[in-house]
Amino acid sequence: MLLSGKEPSAKMKADARILSEKFEKKFSRKPCLAVVFVGSDPASAVYVRNKKKACAETAIDHMDVDLDENISEDELIGRIKELDADESVDGILVQLPLPSHIDEARILSFISSEKDVDGFSAANLGSLLTEEKALVACTPKGILYMLDYYHIDTEGKNVVVVGRSRIVGKPVAALLEQKSRNATVTLCHSRTKDIDYYLKNADILICAVGKPHVISEDMVKKDAVVIDVGTNRVEDSSKKSGYSLVGDFHYTQEDGGSLKVSPVPGGVGLMTVASLMENTIIAACRRMGMEAEDL
Ligand code: NAP
Repeated sequence: MLLSGKEPSAKMKADARILSEKFEKKFSRKPCLAVVFVGSDPASAVYVRNKKKACAETAIDHMDVDLDENISEDELIGRIKELDADESVDGILVQLPLPSHIDEARILSFISSEKDVDGFSAANLGSLLTEEKALVACTPKGILYMLDYYHIDTEGKNVVVVGRSRIVGKPVAALLEQKSRNATVTLCHSRTKDIDYYLKNADILICAVGKPHVISEDMVKKDAVVIDVGTNRVEDSSKKSGYSLVGDFHYTQEDGGSLKVSPVPGGVGLMTVASLMENTIIAACRRMGMEAEDL
Protein backbone atom coordinates (compact mmCIF):
# COMPACT_ATOMS: atom_id res chain seq x y z
CA MET A 1 0.00 0.00 0.00
CA LEU A 2 1.20 3.49 -0.81
CA LEU A 3 0.95 6.14 1.90
CA SER A 4 0.29 9.06 -0.39
CA GLY A 5 0.78 12.55 0.99
CA LYS A 6 -1.92 13.96 -1.29
CA GLU A 7 -5.03 13.23 0.76
CA PRO A 8 -3.65 13.93 4.24
CA SER A 9 -1.96 17.16 3.12
CA ALA A 10 -5.19 18.30 1.43
CA LYS A 11 -7.09 17.63 4.68
CA MET A 12 -4.48 19.45 6.74
CA LYS A 13 -4.64 22.47 4.41
CA ALA A 14 -8.44 22.49 4.30
CA ASP A 15 -8.53 22.54 8.12
CA ALA A 16 -5.84 25.23 8.15
CA ARG A 17 -7.91 27.36 5.80
CA ILE A 18 -10.91 27.17 8.13
CA LEU A 19 -8.71 28.33 11.02
CA SER A 20 -7.19 31.10 8.92
CA GLU A 21 -10.62 32.41 7.98
CA LYS A 22 -11.70 32.39 11.62
CA PHE A 23 -8.49 34.25 12.49
CA GLU A 24 -9.20 36.89 9.85
CA LYS A 25 -12.76 37.34 11.11
CA LYS A 26 -11.54 37.80 14.66
CA PHE A 27 -8.49 40.01 14.04
CA SER A 28 -9.35 41.69 10.71
CA ARG A 29 -6.15 40.46 9.10
CA LYS A 30 -4.77 37.22 7.74
CA PRO A 31 -1.91 35.28 9.33
CA CYS A 32 1.28 36.36 7.56
CA LEU A 33 4.34 34.33 6.59
CA ALA A 34 7.56 36.08 5.54
CA VAL A 35 9.31 33.96 2.90
CA VAL A 36 13.01 34.78 2.73
CA PHE A 37 14.71 33.53 -0.43
CA VAL A 38 18.38 34.33 -0.97
CA GLY A 39 19.73 33.81 -4.50
CA SER A 40 18.08 31.93 -7.34
CA ASP A 41 18.82 28.22 -6.91
CA PRO A 42 16.26 26.52 -9.18
CA ALA A 43 15.46 23.65 -6.76
CA SER A 44 14.91 26.14 -3.91
CA ALA A 45 12.79 28.31 -6.23
CA VAL A 46 10.44 25.35 -6.75
CA TYR A 47 10.10 24.83 -2.97
CA VAL A 48 9.45 28.56 -2.44
CA ARG A 49 6.80 28.56 -5.16
CA ASN A 50 5.06 25.56 -3.58
CA LYS A 51 5.04 27.25 -0.17
CA LYS A 52 3.52 30.44 -1.60
CA LYS A 53 0.90 28.40 -3.43
CA ALA A 54 0.03 26.67 -0.16
CA CYS A 55 -0.30 30.09 1.51
CA ALA A 56 -2.90 31.05 -1.09
CA GLU A 57 -4.74 27.75 -0.56
CA THR A 58 -4.91 28.30 3.21
CA ALA A 59 -5.78 32.02 3.19
CA ILE A 60 -2.40 33.02 4.61
CA ASP A 61 -0.65 36.18 3.43
CA HIS A 62 2.95 35.85 2.32
CA MET A 63 5.50 38.63 2.38
CA ASP A 64 8.13 37.97 -0.30
CA VAL A 65 11.65 38.81 0.77
CA ASP A 66 13.85 38.02 -2.24
CA LEU A 67 17.49 38.84 -1.67
CA ASP A 68 20.60 38.88 -3.82
CA GLU A 69 22.81 35.83 -3.47
CA ASN A 70 25.81 38.05 -2.69
CA ILE A 71 24.14 39.60 0.35
CA SER A 72 26.50 39.70 3.33
CA GLU A 73 25.78 37.75 6.50
CA ASP A 74 25.38 40.99 8.47
CA GLU A 75 22.94 42.46 5.94
CA LEU A 76 20.88 39.28 6.05
CA ILE A 77 20.86 39.33 9.85
CA GLY A 78 19.63 42.94 9.62
CA ARG A 79 16.70 41.85 7.41
CA ILE A 80 15.83 38.96 9.73
CA LYS A 81 15.86 41.29 12.74
CA GLU A 82 13.51 43.68 10.93
CA LEU A 83 11.09 40.86 10.13
CA ASP A 84 11.30 39.58 13.68
CA ALA A 85 10.33 43.02 14.98
CA ASP A 86 7.63 43.56 12.33
CA GLU A 87 4.21 43.34 14.02
CA SER A 88 2.53 42.32 10.77
CA VAL A 89 4.69 39.18 10.41
CA ASP A 90 3.65 36.02 12.29
CA GLY A 91 6.17 33.55 10.94
CA ILE A 92 9.55 33.69 9.23
CA LEU A 93 10.68 31.05 6.79
CA VAL A 94 14.25 31.18 5.49
CA GLN A 95 14.56 28.90 2.49
CA LEU A 96 17.58 26.62 2.90
CA PRO A 97 20.27 26.05 1.81
CA LEU A 98 21.72 29.55 2.03
CA PRO A 99 24.73 30.49 -0.15
CA SER A 100 27.95 28.93 1.19
CA HIS A 101 29.42 32.22 2.51
CA ILE A 102 26.55 32.48 5.02
CA ASP A 103 26.40 30.60 8.33
CA GLU A 104 22.90 29.10 8.33
CA ALA A 105 22.77 28.30 12.04
CA ARG A 106 23.78 31.89 12.87
CA ILE A 107 21.07 33.34 10.63
CA LEU A 108 18.36 31.08 12.04
CA SER A 109 19.36 32.02 15.59
CA PHE A 110 18.02 35.55 14.94
CA ILE A 111 14.46 34.28 14.45
CA SER A 112 12.60 34.36 17.76
CA SER A 113 11.04 31.05 18.78
CA GLU A 114 7.54 32.63 18.50
CA LYS A 115 8.08 33.24 14.76
CA ASP A 116 10.14 30.10 14.12
CA VAL A 117 7.48 28.33 12.05
CA ASP A 118 10.04 25.83 10.75
CA GLY A 119 10.53 24.71 14.36
CA PHE A 120 14.33 24.69 14.06
CA SER A 121 15.21 26.86 17.08
CA ALA A 122 16.80 25.41 20.21
CA ALA A 123 13.73 26.45 22.22
CA ASN A 124 11.24 24.74 19.91
CA LEU A 125 13.38 21.61 19.50
CA GLY A 126 14.03 21.46 23.25
CA SER A 127 10.29 21.55 23.94
CA LEU A 128 9.96 18.22 22.15
CA LEU A 129 12.14 16.66 24.86
CA THR A 130 10.28 18.31 27.73
CA GLU A 131 6.94 17.55 26.02
CA GLU A 132 5.84 21.18 26.25
CA LYS A 133 3.97 23.29 23.73
CA ALA A 134 6.15 24.19 20.76
CA LEU A 135 6.19 24.97 17.09
CA VAL A 136 6.98 21.46 15.91
CA ALA A 137 9.48 21.05 13.04
CA CYS A 138 7.42 20.74 9.85
CA THR A 139 8.64 17.44 8.40
CA PRO A 140 8.37 15.50 11.70
CA LYS A 141 4.97 17.08 12.31
CA GLY A 142 3.84 16.05 8.83
CA ILE A 143 5.10 12.48 9.37
CA LEU A 144 3.06 12.14 12.57
CA TYR A 145 -0.02 13.53 10.85
CA MET A 146 0.46 11.02 8.02
CA LEU A 147 0.78 8.09 10.46
CA ASP A 148 -2.43 9.18 12.20
CA TYR A 149 -4.25 9.71 8.91
CA TYR A 150 -3.50 6.12 7.86
CA HIS A 151 -4.31 4.78 11.37
CA ILE A 152 -0.78 3.54 11.97
CA ASP A 153 -0.41 3.09 15.70
CA THR A 154 3.03 3.70 17.20
CA GLU A 155 2.29 2.41 20.73
CA GLY A 156 5.00 -0.09 21.70
CA LYS A 157 6.29 -0.33 18.11
CA ASN A 158 9.96 -0.55 17.17
CA VAL A 159 10.61 2.59 15.19
CA VAL A 160 13.95 2.97 13.46
CA VAL A 161 14.92 6.44 12.26
CA VAL A 162 17.89 6.56 9.90
CA GLY A 163 19.49 10.02 9.88
CA ARG A 164 20.06 12.29 12.88
CA SER A 165 19.62 15.77 11.41
CA ARG A 166 18.28 18.59 13.52
CA ILE A 167 15.41 19.15 11.09
CA VAL A 168 14.15 15.58 10.61
CA GLY A 169 15.83 12.67 12.39
CA LYS A 170 16.29 14.03 15.90
CA PRO A 171 12.91 15.78 16.23
CA VAL A 172 10.91 12.89 14.77
CA ALA A 173 12.68 10.49 17.17
CA ALA A 174 11.90 12.80 20.12
CA LEU A 175 8.23 13.09 19.11
CA LEU A 176 7.74 9.36 18.69
CA GLU A 177 9.09 8.55 22.12
CA GLN A 178 6.81 11.08 23.82
CA LYS A 179 4.22 9.61 26.19
CA SER A 180 1.44 10.31 23.68
CA ARG A 181 3.16 8.05 21.10
CA ASN A 182 5.03 5.48 23.19
CA ALA A 183 7.23 4.09 20.42
CA THR A 184 10.59 2.49 21.17
CA VAL A 185 12.89 4.50 18.97
CA THR A 186 16.34 3.65 17.62
CA LEU A 187 18.18 6.48 15.93
CA CYS A 188 20.74 5.25 13.36
CA HIS A 189 23.36 7.20 11.42
CA SER A 190 26.46 6.72 9.32
CA ARG A 191 28.45 5.31 12.25
CA THR A 192 25.84 2.77 13.36
CA LYS A 193 27.37 -0.71 13.44
CA ASP A 194 25.34 -3.50 11.85
CA ILE A 195 22.52 -1.22 10.71
CA ASP A 196 20.93 -4.25 8.98
CA TYR A 197 20.07 -5.68 12.40
CA TYR A 198 18.03 -2.58 13.31
CA LEU A 199 16.39 -2.35 9.90
CA LYS A 200 15.24 -6.00 10.09
CA ASN A 201 13.57 -5.36 13.45
CA ALA A 202 11.77 -2.14 12.50
CA ASP A 203 7.97 -2.11 12.56
CA ILE A 204 8.18 1.45 11.28
CA LEU A 205 11.21 2.76 9.40
CA ILE A 206 11.79 6.46 8.79
CA CYS A 207 14.54 7.13 6.23
CA ALA A 208 16.10 10.61 6.28
CA VAL A 209 19.51 9.95 4.78
CA GLY A 210 19.61 11.83 1.48
CA LYS A 211 21.15 9.04 -0.63
CA PRO A 212 19.14 7.57 -3.49
CA HIS A 213 17.85 4.06 -2.77
CA VAL A 214 20.35 3.45 0.03
CA ILE A 215 17.88 1.11 1.79
CA SER A 216 15.89 -1.54 -0.07
CA GLU A 217 12.86 -3.73 0.58
CA ASP A 218 14.91 -6.88 1.17
CA MET A 219 16.46 -5.17 4.23
CA VAL A 220 13.17 -4.69 6.11
CA LYS A 221 10.27 -6.83 7.43
CA LYS A 222 7.74 -7.86 4.79
CA ASP A 223 4.96 -5.83 6.43
CA ALA A 224 6.99 -2.84 7.60
CA VAL A 225 5.75 0.75 7.41
CA VAL A 226 8.32 2.88 5.58
CA ILE A 227 8.22 6.66 5.69
CA ASP A 228 10.68 7.91 3.09
CA VAL A 229 11.82 11.47 3.72
CA GLY A 230 14.79 11.37 1.32
CA THR A 231 14.42 13.61 -1.69
CA ASN A 232 17.25 12.95 -4.11
CA ARG A 233 17.79 14.25 -7.62
CA VAL A 234 19.06 11.63 -10.05
CA GLU A 235 19.86 12.11 -13.71
CA ASP A 236 17.01 11.07 -15.98
CA SER A 237 17.33 11.79 -19.67
CA SER A 238 13.68 10.83 -20.24
CA LYS A 239 12.60 13.91 -18.27
CA LYS A 240 12.48 17.41 -19.74
CA SER A 241 14.27 18.73 -16.65
CA GLY A 242 16.98 16.07 -17.05
CA TYR A 243 16.42 14.64 -13.56
CA SER A 244 13.90 12.75 -11.43
CA LEU A 245 13.31 12.77 -7.71
CA VAL A 246 13.77 9.51 -5.85
CA GLY A 247 13.68 8.57 -2.20
CA ASP A 248 16.17 6.80 0.07
CA PHE A 249 14.12 3.60 -0.09
CA HIS A 250 13.91 1.22 -3.01
CA TYR A 251 10.90 -1.03 -3.58
CA THR A 252 9.94 -2.96 -6.66
CA GLN A 253 6.14 -3.16 -6.75
CA GLU A 254 4.52 0.10 -7.72
CA ASP A 255 1.99 -0.11 -4.90
CA GLY A 256 4.60 -1.14 -2.31
CA GLY A 257 3.33 -4.76 -2.20
CA SER A 258 3.00 -5.96 1.41
CA LEU A 259 4.78 -2.86 2.70
CA LYS A 260 3.14 0.42 3.59
CA VAL A 261 5.44 2.95 1.99
CA SER A 262 5.30 6.68 1.37
CA PRO A 263 6.27 7.58 -2.21
CA VAL A 264 8.79 10.18 -3.38
CA PRO A 265 7.62 12.52 -4.76
CA GLY A 266 4.03 12.75 -3.51
CA GLY A 267 4.66 11.71 0.09
CA VAL A 268 6.28 13.47 3.02
CA GLY A 269 7.21 16.60 1.03
CA LEU A 270 3.53 17.54 0.70
CA MET A 271 3.06 17.05 4.45
CA THR A 272 5.97 19.37 5.23
CA VAL A 273 4.41 22.26 3.32
CA ALA A 274 0.98 21.71 4.88
CA SER A 275 2.58 21.64 8.35
CA LEU A 276 4.28 24.96 7.65
CA MET A 277 0.87 26.50 7.00
CA GLU A 278 -0.56 25.08 10.22
CA ASN A 279 2.46 26.33 12.17
CA THR A 280 1.99 29.83 10.74
CA ILE A 281 -1.59 29.91 12.03
CA ILE A 282 -0.54 28.55 15.43
CA ALA A 283 2.19 31.22 15.65
CA ALA A 284 -0.26 33.97 14.60
CA CYS A 285 -2.76 32.89 17.27
CA ARG A 286 -0.13 32.70 20.01
CA ARG A 287 1.08 36.19 19.11
CA MET A 288 -2.53 37.32 19.66
CA GLY A 289 -2.59 35.55 23.03
CA MET A 290 -4.63 32.48 22.14
CA GLU A 291 -4.41 28.93 20.82
CA ALA A 292 -5.56 28.05 17.31
CA GLU A 293 -8.02 25.44 18.64
CA ASP A 294 -9.81 28.20 20.58
CA LEU A 295 -10.48 30.35 17.50
P1 NAP B 1 21.28 15.47 6.61
O1 NAP B 1 21.52 16.61 7.50
O2 NAP B 1 21.77 15.50 5.20
O3 NAP B 1 21.87 14.18 7.33
C1 NAP B 1 21.82 12.90 6.78
C2 NAP B 1 21.87 11.87 7.88
O4 NAP B 1 21.99 10.59 7.29
C3 NAP B 1 23.07 12.02 8.83
O5 NAP B 1 22.65 11.84 10.16
C4 NAP B 1 24.02 10.90 8.39
O6 NAP B 1 24.80 10.37 9.44
C5 NAP B 1 23.05 9.86 7.91
N1 NAP B 1 23.65 8.96 6.92
C6 NAP B 1 24.35 9.30 5.80
N2 NAP B 1 24.71 8.19 5.13
C7 NAP B 1 24.24 7.14 5.84
C8 NAP B 1 24.28 5.74 5.67
N3 NAP B 1 24.88 5.18 4.61
N4 NAP B 1 23.69 4.95 6.59
C9 NAP B 1 23.07 5.49 7.66
N5 NAP B 1 22.98 6.82 7.87
C10 NAP B 1 23.56 7.63 6.98
O7 NAP B 1 19.75 15.04 6.61
P2 NAP B 1 18.39 15.84 6.35
O8 NAP B 1 18.61 17.30 6.22
O9 NAP B 1 17.47 15.29 7.35
O10 NAP B 1 17.98 15.33 4.89
C11 NAP B 1 17.83 13.96 4.58
C12 NAP B 1 17.04 13.81 3.30
O11 NAP B 1 15.71 14.22 3.52
C13 NAP B 1 17.53 14.65 2.12
O12 NAP B 1 17.32 13.93 0.92
C14 NAP B 1 16.62 15.86 2.15
O13 NAP B 1 16.49 16.47 0.89
C15 NAP B 1 15.33 15.22 2.58
N6 NAP B 1 14.40 16.12 3.23
C16 NAP B 1 13.12 16.09 2.77
C17 NAP B 1 12.17 16.87 3.37
C18 NAP B 1 10.76 16.79 2.89
O14 NAP B 1 9.95 17.61 3.26
N7 NAP B 1 10.41 15.79 2.10
C19 NAP B 1 12.49 17.70 4.44
C20 NAP B 1 13.81 17.69 4.90
C21 NAP B 1 14.74 16.89 4.30
P3 NAP B 1 25.91 11.24 10.25
O15 NAP B 1 25.12 12.12 11.18
O16 NAP B 1 26.71 10.22 10.93
O17 NAP B 1 26.64 12.04 9.21
